[in-house]
Amino acid sequence: MRLKDKAILITAAGQGMGRASALACAAEGANVWATDRDGALLDGLADHGIRTQALDVTDHDAIAALASELPPLDGLFNCAGIVVNGSLETCTVEDWDLSFAVNINAMFHMTRAVMPGLLERAGETGTAAILNMASVAGSVRGLPNRCAYGASKAAVIGLTKSIAADYVGSGLRANCLCPGTVDTPSLRGRIASAADPVQAEKDFIARQPMGRIATVDDMTPVVIYLLSDESRFVSGQAVSVDGGMTI
Ligand code: NAD
Repeated sequence: MRLKDKAILITAAGQGMGRASALACAAEGANVWATDRDGALLDGLADHGIRTQALDVTDHDAIAALASELPPLDGLFNCAGIVVNGSLETCTVEDWDLSFAVNINAMFHMTRAVMPGLLERAGETGTAAILNMASVAGSVRGLPNRCAYGASKAAVIGLTKSIAADYVGSGLRANCLCPGTVDTPSLRGRIASAADPVQAEKDFIARQPMGRIATVDDMTPVVIYLLSDESRFVSGQAVSVDGGMTI
């Protein structure tokens, strides 16, 4: 068991990579708290011994309330994020603000709220881990039509490196995951809402040199690694799992 008895909180665990990660962490022996804005999406996770709680990560009071009820955490996976379309000219101000609220500001508030417990566990066990969801789109690569998304995900990498630098001597590590294109409900939604969905799916596949879109199960082994003691000498890294997008 690679995460035996570790207390781990995951945001946006109702579907996609967050849900797959919650299940994978529980299967590796972790005590998982799974949260999502849409509490109904968390149905079924309790069958795997996972505690669930509806949480909108843009609600800072709700974050504080949840943090006050949690035990000290060994791991935090800030997975919540949204994708909005648009270039500098076509992205709306509302979409820009929402992207930053969900993709990066929430990460700042969530991480601060559970930081005392993470540092406590790092002091007791020698290691604790923060994993932040970034993306290849951002500072790793500029992708078209992703102005607010790319800017906010680049900020995730900056925040992660800053935390890593400030706490490197404490045992608390911070890394981020930079997926390429992953088959999740929101990706299916982006494909379905395109003018030509068949072509849109082909275009998503075409940007993956390995010739396919990732599954969530391509991501979970790396999530487990970065939350576990196996990555105890790794901090401040933006780990791309991208089917060759950044070769
Ligand atoms: P998804 O987009 O299908 O699901 C996201 C989940 O986030 C949903 O359950 C939704 O209810 C929840 N959510 C949305 N806003 C929230 C909020 N304010 N508070 C709490 N929960 C909220 O899942 P996904 O595609 O696996 O995306 C998860 C993360 O991975 C996101 O940060 C996304 O930007 C990132 N990502 C996705 C891809 C991809 O191709 N799918 C690639 C790179 C990065």
